[in-house]
Amino acid sequence: MSADSTQYVGRFAPSPSGPLHFGSLVCALASFLDAKKNNGLWLLRIEDIDPPREDPKHVDTILNQLEHHGLHWNGPILFQSQRTTSYARALDELHRQHLTYACTCSRKRLGPMSGVYDGHCRARTATSEPHAVRLTLAKSSEQTIAVDDLIMGDYRQNLHREVGDFVLRRKDGLYSYQLASVIDDQFQGITRVVRGYDLLNSSPRQRYLQRCLNYPSLEYAHVPIAVDQKGHKLSKQTKAQALKNRLAPINLWNALDWLGQKPPKTLLKAPVMQLLEWAMRHWVLQQVSNRPARPAQQDHDYEL
Ligand code: GLU
Ligand code: ZN
Repeated sequence: MSADSTQYVGRFAPSPSGPLHFGSLVCALASFLDAKKNNGLWLLRIEDIDPPREDPKHVDTILNQLEHHGLHWNGPILFQSQRTTSYARALDELHRQHLTYACTCSRKRLGPMSGVYDGHCRARTATSEPHAVRLTLAKSSEQTIAVDDLIMGDYRQNLHREVGDFVLRRKDGLYSYQLASVIDDQFQGITRVVRGYDLLNSSPRQRYLQRCLNYPSLEYAHVPIAVDQKGHKLSKQTKAQALKNRLAPINLWNALDWLGQKPPKTLLKAPVMQLLEWAMRHWVLQQVSNRPARPAQQDHDYEL
């Protein structure tokens, strides 16, 4: 597999915290179709860097679900659990630039900050205590980081005010999602990220880290998140139903409909490959709703 510098490279990056559900399908499908429509590659990355929240058994289920839904990826699968040497190297690089520091703050201290770190440990010297590693935001980042999202439009975040110096490696030694994701998007040559709206507010942090590491910026497109009747994101915690492989065609039809692609009713019972062929030809990213969340079809609708 080789990608020249102008080629579109997209990706789907599930965490093995559970099987795929309707909300994961719309993200997978949107990134797949957008890559195909642009003659791009669609890569698969398993984000297995947080073992306490994951179970390796879900990896096989996810791969199986993708295959049954006709979502075949290009090239080898990248497993983040095998990438720690690269994360450590990037962390060293940031350390050399004096952009990291050790943070020994307790949960009790962090709690009341509601996610915006106050920079307390910036001034401390090296420590042998267990510590997280944080990124030192530069003065210039007082300026707001803008992301021109291809679906959601202009999105801005002031990292100082809204996030603070964020974690690159946790106190338990695990690398943060932000760091791993930026390094692997670069490693895999990703040019456009299509994923769920819940990660829109990570994009400015990722763009900022890309700059620190001298990586090129990516394009972003965030699709709405699928929510249940109570307005909660479909997830394992909200007991979202796992995608049923035997219902793959109707799952795909529903996902296309949900993504605003207006699949014809005549395709309702079409086989997977026919649906995907139609969808690849007709995909229009701009038809995806720019609302943050949309209710998912109820599971009984899936049965024909
Ligand atoms: N692993 C993340 C998730 O499953 C997605 C990360 C990304 O697409 O950047 O929510
Ligand atoms: Zn601290």
